[in-house]
Amino acid sequence: MNVVLFGPPGAGKGTQAKELSQKYDIPHISTGDILRANVREGTELGLKAKEYMDKGELVPDQVLIGLIKDRLEEPDCANGYLLDGYPRTIPQADALTGILNEINKPLDSVINMGVGDEELVKRLSGRRSCKCGESYHIMFNSPKEEGVCNACGGQLYQRDDDREDVIRQRLAVYNDKTKPLIEYYDNAGLLVNVDGAGLVDSVLADICKIMDQYK
Ligand code: ADP
Ligand code: ADP
Ligand code: ZN
Repeated sequence: MNVVLFGPPGAGKGTQAKELSQKYDIPHISTGDILRANVREGTELGLKAKEYMDKGELVPDQVLIGLIKDRLEEPDCANGYLLDGYPRTIPQADALTGILNEINKPLDSVINMGVGDEELVKRLSGRRSCKCGESYHIMFNSPKEEGVCNACGGQLYQRDDDREDVIRQRLAVYNDKTKPLIEYYDNAGLLVNVDGAGLVDSVLADICKIMDQYK
């Protein structure tokens, strides 16, 4: 099962991907998580990426294309993958098509999670993240113990880019650079729309109905 989970920042891609990755036993590949791990480790890639991430800008395409190519060639992608946060631009999508053709794992579907802007701002401004990749929300999805990750016991933190001014910038970048991919994948016959505004479990059920077709 080869799927892209698509949607604006805060649509719930990471939240859904965690569940789907377990249920279907395929890796959850979040380019944001990979970049943040590099920032924490202080790698060359991390240092470069941080400048863009802190401003709510996209990291340059060439960096992301190299990163996703290496990741998709890892052996755990043999039975499929779930992409979250990639592609975000048309050049990234074109490069992805080339990479996937080369490794003979073309996309089954691009699942587009629709959520309105004001709801996105509420979700992102109340988000609390864990370095293991889990995310929570102070109102909508609180952890069992305040400030502590249910999955790994790690301490939750608020991302530097989850502040209102940076959130607005990220939404503007989404509209400008990423949203055109909806039409791109619709034209390719790969787009499936899901209402992302419901409860986590009802969105999950809708996505599973789609994914079950590719088992
Ligand atoms: P994305 O990966 O698309 O940026 P996340 O999965 O990190 O989004 O979710 C953004 C925030 O919204 C998090 O705080 C998360 O707990 C919360 N959230 C996710 N799905 C829902 C939902 N269906 N309803 C309410 N809040 C949600
Ligand atoms: P969210 O879903 O909340 O927007 P992500 O964790 O997916 O956040 O991404 C955080 C930041 O990492 C982005 O704002 C951007 O700077 C960078 N990033 C992640 N994926 C990409 C990508 N495919 N192309 C360019 N930049 C990316
Ligand atoms: Zn954790």
